[in-house]
Amino acid sequence: MASAPLISIAPPPPFVAGASHADFGEGRLRDSHGRAITDLRISVTDRCNYKCVYCRTGEEDVQFTELPIEHYLRMVRVFVSLGIEKVRITGGEPLLRKGVVEMVAELARMRTAFDEDGVSANKLDIALTTNGHLLEKMAAPLKAAGLDRVTVSMDAVDPETFSRITRVPRSFDRVLAGIRAARDAGLGPVKVNCVLLRGFNDDQIERFAEFSRKEAVIVRFIEWMPLEEPSSAPGSRTWSPETVVPMDEIVARLNAWRPLVDLAPNAASETARRFTFDDGIGEIGIIAPVSRPFCGHCSRVRLTSDGKIRTCLFSQTDHDLEKKIAQGKSDAELAAYIRHIVFRKEARHHIGEAGFLKPSRNMVHIGG
Ligand code: SAM
Repeated sequence: MASAPLISIAPPPPFVAGASHADFGEGRLRDSHGRAITDLRISVTDRCNYKCVYCRTGEEDVQFTELPIEHYLRMVRVFVSLGIEKVRITGGEPLLRKGVVEMVAELARMRTAFDEDGVSANKLDIALTTNGHLLEKMAAPLKAAGLDRVTVSMDAVDPETFSRITRVPRSFDRVLAGIRAARDAGLGPVKVNCVLLRGFNDDQIERFAEFSRKEAVIVRFIEWMPLEEPSSAPGSRTWSPETVVPMDEIVARLNAWRPLVDLAPNAASETARRFTFDDGIGEIGIIAPVSRPFCGHCSRVRLTSDGKIRTCLFSQTDHDLEKKIAQGKSDAELAAYIRHIVFRKEARHHIGEAGFLKPSRNMVHIGG
């Protein structure tokens, strides 16, 4: 696997209580590899109402606590003061969290800190990732509160395969209704994310292309990463390189079905390679963290439901921001702590390399 072209520099000095912003730089939040960190993903609950076979064991329940919404909002305010512009609410399943609509309304009141013209401040870009089960009724209130976009996870367009994946009967129709409600509410373009597992749902690739064209949604195929809860429970899947359906194979399959046409990336930090078809109808994205890692452009940092900062999906440890709040730290002290932690963000992940270590948390407990 090609390694990302990143410069390595010496680690920063250890964090000391009372350190000021200046100790870890000023201006926009950056890591030691020169990447500006502009995207925050925040998990608002560890609970999930689905037990997807590639993500959860189906046996384990909640493992981490939830914080009061005001704590998340305070953390986000500090992150925004350092240059965060995009906030994505996730989980667990974020729509299970009481107060999520009100949280969106508060986020919509925040303004970015570093604007290009140096004068006007912009609304944050606010997005949410959901399994869609509860979305039909919540789409309009979320939009009214200020949500910009929604991404719905849906790993099959065939209801039977879908229920085999989620381990929840009759779940497909609920999610489809949620996608349509989100589109009708103006939470678009709605993105539908599908994780492909070889021999399980990879027969759905062409049907997903049809789905994108018919439902006017962006379908994004995501390579499966080694982030599942370890399990020997019936039906659960364990990651191995052979289970991944790589980008090249997806492109070849789609091209054989109908010619693909490349679309330009929306931004340098875009994680998906984008395509439409020869008649311009439908949009497909392919996110290939395993076969084509994009760590060199990573602009993300994550907050877990229990208030820990994670600088990479594959981090071996996390950093307790909530504890700093419990200790009564000021916003300036929280900001200095965040700068210190983010500075040490990992250069890249090591999936597929000898000595790869699974991260200290699985996807459902991080927030995808
Ligand atoms: N419950 C919400 C949902 O279903 O979208 C948010 C949390 S879920 C963990 C976020 C996303 O992570 C989903 O799209 C899911 O398919 C994806 N995901 C989970 N495990 C994954 C893995 N091992 N590799 C790649 N994506 C994964």
